[in-house]
Amino acid sequence: MGSSDSEQAFENVKKLINDVCDRLSISETCRLRLGECERELTVHFPVKMDDGGVKVFTGYRVIHNDTRGPSKGGIRYHPDVTLDEVRALAALMTLKTAVVNIPYGGAKGAVVCDPKAMSLGELERLTRRYTAEITILIGPESDIPAPDVGTNPQIMAWIMDTYSMGRGHPVLAVTTGKPIEIGGSKGRFEATGRGCMICALLAAKHLGINLEGATAVVQGCGNVGATAARLLAGDVCRVIAISDSKCGIYNARGLDLEGLLAHKRKTGLVAGFKDAETITNAELLGLQCDILIPAAIEDQIVEANAASVKTKVVIEGANRPITPEADRILGDNGIFVVPDILANTGGVIISYLEWVQGMQFFFWDEDEVNNYLQKIMTNAFEDILGISHHEQVDMRTAAYMVALRRVAAAMATRGIFP
Ligand code: NAD
Repeated sequence: MGSSDSEQAFENVKKLINDVCDRLSISETCRLRLGECERELTVHFPVKMDDGGVKVFTGYRVIHNDTRGPSKGGIRYHPDVTLDEVRALAALMTLKTAVVNIPYGGAKGAVVCDPKAMSLGELERLTRRYTAEITILIGPESDIPAPDVGTNPQIMAWIMDTYSMGRGHPVLAVTTGKPIEIGGSKGRFEATGRGCMICALLAAKHLGINLEGATAVVQGCGNVGATAARLLAGDVCRVIAISDSKCGIYNARGLDLEGLLAHKRKTGLVAGFKDAETITNAELLGLQCDILIPAAIEDQIVEANAASVKTKVVIEGANRPITPEADRILGDNGIFVVPDILANTGGVIISYLEWVQGMQFFFWDEDEVNNYLQKIMTNAFEDILGISHHEQVDMRTAAYMVALRRVAAAMATRGIFP
């Protein structure tokens, strides 16, 4: 997430949008509107630190487009996050919600901070003050945050509580990804990783990969990566490597994921796990495997390392893990890429269910939620695969086509006020 790369982030997403708008002859009005974010809020706010001092933090909340419904998107806590990256991620949310046809627009938020270096008390004070600063945008009917890199259900609980205190009554539907006891949905915590697993199974079926004996490699051992790896290792295939920001671990016979996650909970690291050798993140991305899931951060497979990727399928668990140049190289090498705006929509799909449950104070069991996820993702995957065959384009272009047709139709139907 270096600043030079992230200055390109929104441009890269806009370029893809423009290319697909050309292909579909989408109106200039729609293109112009999607080329900018509708609302961008930057806040600088004070937080009392444990040492008695005060620090001023910078945060953002960006709504890219809300034509199809209230805007939806996660909040990231990361030291290198930039406004440009937040814009790019907000635009991807507009496309994601349209790809899976749920009635939302796209948004994203962030605070420039290092949550790993902060105490729980500091994180709570930072979150509550950031929530107060962005209250002019968020709300169950306008803009609904969720977790992203560096944030978690506890942080969503503080957002919900802070917002509710300001309203004088509990507002469950103001965030999603909350803990179960305050209106979280069953299945939400695992949703994005589960969605990656669903895409991996569908891609394997499409390519005729026999999963018995197949191997998977996962970059990132957070919410998305750890869940995807655990579900795949459970009864699907062999997960031979996984990493976090420090390093990766590898065992050609397959990792014991339950044991590894217990080790990670205890030590905070994947390093040092028994029966595995330590490798670098660069080595991990070049391992021979059937399924590669980059589920950490953006810009991981770039022009310089794309040719060394030796997998049959890439499932983009993270947002924008492959740069456009690298994407072309993977395509030339016959690697089947399931793009982020489809592969990591599990979270927003179950977030939508959490929001619906929160709005009506009526809660569903886990099977209902997971069945819905399976149905929505399978339908979206098959639609996109069908378009990719019919139009002779890759899965990313096909997914953008599905999304942009829906957004353009909604814009044309609503028209422009006044
Ligand atoms: P997380 O903070 O829970 O986990 C991120 C993981 O990536 C951690 O294990 C971290 O150590 C690792 N990591 C960070 N920098 C790295 C680096 N340079 N190299 C290798 N590993 C690195 O975050 P998450 O929620 O799992 O999100 C991961 C990605 O998935 C992000 O791109 C996020 O935007 C995307 N995403 C998340 C969700 C969700 O529901 N959480 C939904 C859609 C997309």
